[in-house]
Amino acid sequence: MVVEMHAGLASDGGSKLKMLLTFVDALPNGNEEGIYYSIDLGGTNFRVLRVEVGAGSVIINQKVEHQPIPEELTKGTTEDLFNFVALALKSFLEREDDQDVKRALGFTFSFPVRQNSVSSGSLIRWTKGFSIEDTVGKDVAQCLNDALARCGLNVRVTALVNDTVGTLALGHYYDEDTVAAVIIGSGTNACYIERTDAIIKCQGLLTNSGGMVVNMEWGNFWSSHLPRTLYDISLDDETQNRNDQQSQQGFEKMISGMYLGEIARLVLHRMAQESDVFGDAADSLSNPFILSTPFLAAIREDDSPDLSEVRRVLQEHLKIPDAPLKTRRLVVKVCDIVTRRAARLAAAGIVGILKKLGRDGSGGVASTSSSSGGRARGQQPRRTVVAIEGGLYQGYPVLREYLDEALVEILGEEVARSVTLRVTEDGSGIGAALLAAVHSSNS
Ligand code: ADP
Repeated sequence: MVVEMHAGLASDGGSKLKMLLTFVDALPNGNEEGIYYSIDLGGTNFRVLRVEVGAGSVIINQKVEHQPIPEELTKGTTEDLFNFVALALKSFLEREDDQDVKRALGFTFSFPVRQNSVSSGSLIRWTKGFSIEDTVGKDVAQCLNDALARCGLNVRVTALVNDTVGTLALGHYYDEDTVAAVIIGSGTNACYIERTDAIIKCQGLLTNSGGMVVNMEWGNFWSSHLPRTLYDISLDDETQNRNDQQSQQGFEKMISGMYLGEIARLVLHRMAQESDVFGDAADSLSNPFILSTPFLAAIREDDSPDLSEVRRVLQEHLKIPDAPLKTRRLVVKVCDIVTRRAARLAAAGIVGILKKLGRDGSGGVASTSSSSGGRARGQQPRRTVVAIEGGLYQGYPVLREYLDEALVEILGEEVARSVTLRVTEDGSGIGAALLAAVHSSNS
């Protein structure tokens, strides 16, 4: 991971890790004051948020409204999608009786974007089922600003960020030792604060802080060191973002909520084909994505003596009635292995970032960015906070336990104690509003 991070920072296309510049060179520190809004667009739901902050890291008030995006808008035109978003903000502002004041807006847009500044950036490609051809290459902040103007709103985007950057911003707002953020939800990604002089591909980049948040797009990480199983290859074959030469999002497919259930399903399907553990009632196991990750979690977390929850999931969702206890135990074991591997890979990724920052306790392994973080023998390791968010991490305690366990195993107990993973609820949206505050004066 560290080698690939270096390669991605050295040149565009130098690694499967894109290491995208965000132009976020200042993070909220608790001194922000006022009312800020943000829009969070990154998947099936989108959210409008209003955040009122006072000095001293105090969130006086926050309001979040969720709305589903109508399916047809994800495949329609740029104008229709952004009009929909702008109108949702308009009606939110009307309800808040706040439409006449000029406001700074944070825009969390969780698709790959090549940023030109903190408040502008062009869409590289749509993901997560969105496909609106004419948006690709366009400045998405400008698309939203145009739609806001069409609605007669006195609001403009002052910070365009992705969900990891928003999460980092909220983490940093509460605790200035926060240096990285990780999302483990339907997908997975991470960002961290890098020194500008380590961002070789952008020589001469100067910021007041000397640092900039880098969006790793770590879901696409791949390395020949990662053992890939038959099931990973099958999953890759059946997912749509496969291309002929290189598979995409390889790391994500081993870790995130969209895929874990499916990996387990592939294993169970092979077991059903090669043995009679499921009797002859296992046809449903040939249906891709029939076992969702929340069900995988329910199976793994069943601690009843007769595994009654496993029986229920098998019966109701996989149409496998009467699986004997021995078979149910086997199913638990498969779900356990898939979960444990995901958690340990995520932990290894986090340690990769810590290593790059010289905060893994090894006293300066990373050549370009360790001087501030490395420690001499005998020194206390430096306190480090990683902000973390996502439905899989938050909803699945066993995955969290395995992740913590792996961190201790890799870092050792003393260094692991200096690392805190902090959940930042709604971080991606609230963080974007706070970044709008930070960047509203200088954009
Ligand atoms: P997104 O990543 O789309 O923004 P979330 O962060 O809410 O959304 O993550 C949703 C994902 O988290 C789902 O794909 C689901 O697999 C997983 N998830 C949610 N709740 C649980 C749970 N209780 N157990 C296991 N996985 C869960």
